Amino acid sequence: MKTYQSKIKKAKNYLDNHYCIGVPTETVYGLAANAYSNNAVKNIYKLKKRPKSNPLIVHYHSIKDLKKDCLLNDSFIKLYKKFSPGPITYVLDLKRNSKISKMVTNKKSNLAVRFPKHKIFRKLLKELDYPIAAPSANISTKVSAVQSSDIVEDFGNKVKYILDGGQCKIGIESTIIDLRDKPKILRLGGLEISKIEKVLSKKIKISINPKKKISPGQSKIHYSPGIPLKMNIKKTKIDEAYILIKKRKNHLSNYFYLSKKGDLNEATKNLYSCLRKIKNKGYKSIAVEKIPNVALGKTINDRLIRASKF
Ligand code: AMP
Ligand code: MG
Repeated sequence: MKTYQSKIKKAKNYLDNHYCIGVPTETVYGLAANAYSNNAVKNIYKLKKRPKSNPLIVHYHSIKDLKKDCLLNDSFIKLYKKFSPGPITYVLDLKRNSKISKMVTNKKSNLAVRFPKHKIFRKLLKELDYPIAAPSANISTKVSAVQSSDIVEDFGNKVKYILDGGQCKIGIESTIIDLRDKPKILRLGGLEISKIEKVLSKKIKISINPKKKISPGQSKIHYSPGIPLKMNIKKTKIDEAYILIKKRKNHLSNYFYLSKKGDLNEATKNLYSCLRKIKNKGYKSIAVEKIPNVALGKTINDRLIRASKF
């Protein structure tokens, strides 16, 4: 416990001084900075090579803090009570007097907000008197980071400090829902849509359209492992990495498993590290067997489709 406290103190010190640091969340690692500071947020875009038109998610410890920046509504309260802290991000209207940096929102009047569940990050948020802007801690368009070594792999010593919180439990980004008007899903993620529909007692439209640019991060090329990837493949050559949803008895050296027995939560957790591992082993291409398009399998397939647009 004592060691965590000293790590959190160190992290706070960097953030107070407008630096970007790596932070653990239950979804993926974030590249964190003070969301009220233009200079701090500018650094996020620079480090990630992220287009300025792509807004950032802001992380809060409590609803009391959120109320300073956003207007809340009934759907938000219902979902917040059930799923936060957790892998869901809400798009809400910004308050006129909000102190959120214009760099975070690309000067728009709405904000994507989340309450992360990871204990260490929550402890850090509680210590701060500003919320944290944090996109995924990877170079833009590449695979997200799910452990601290992934951040070092992408950024070397350019990220001054990483608050290490072990491997991310969910391993894929949050589900984003726009709650400003009729609820709309803007990104598939770690929370299944059917669970959200149950709480709101209605079907929710999925609006993942890169042309409309509501959520600019949903561009077609994203989550790229840096080598070509093909989906729904039944047979491969031995020099091609083959990703399988569950372990095979007839194991071959180019087989990589997402889970032991085909569990979709386990597969989700392992997806990004599997892609990184394959690339680092020197394979030149990846084939993936058919992943069931149900529950979190839908999110896995969404990421694989984008990864295949290399
Ligand atoms: P990441 O940068 O990996 O954390 O992903 C954040 C995602 O949230 C990107 O796809 C952004 O485009 C999206 N996003 C952030 N802020 C907003 C917002 N205000 N409205 C809609 N989408 C947003
Ligand atoms: Mg990202």
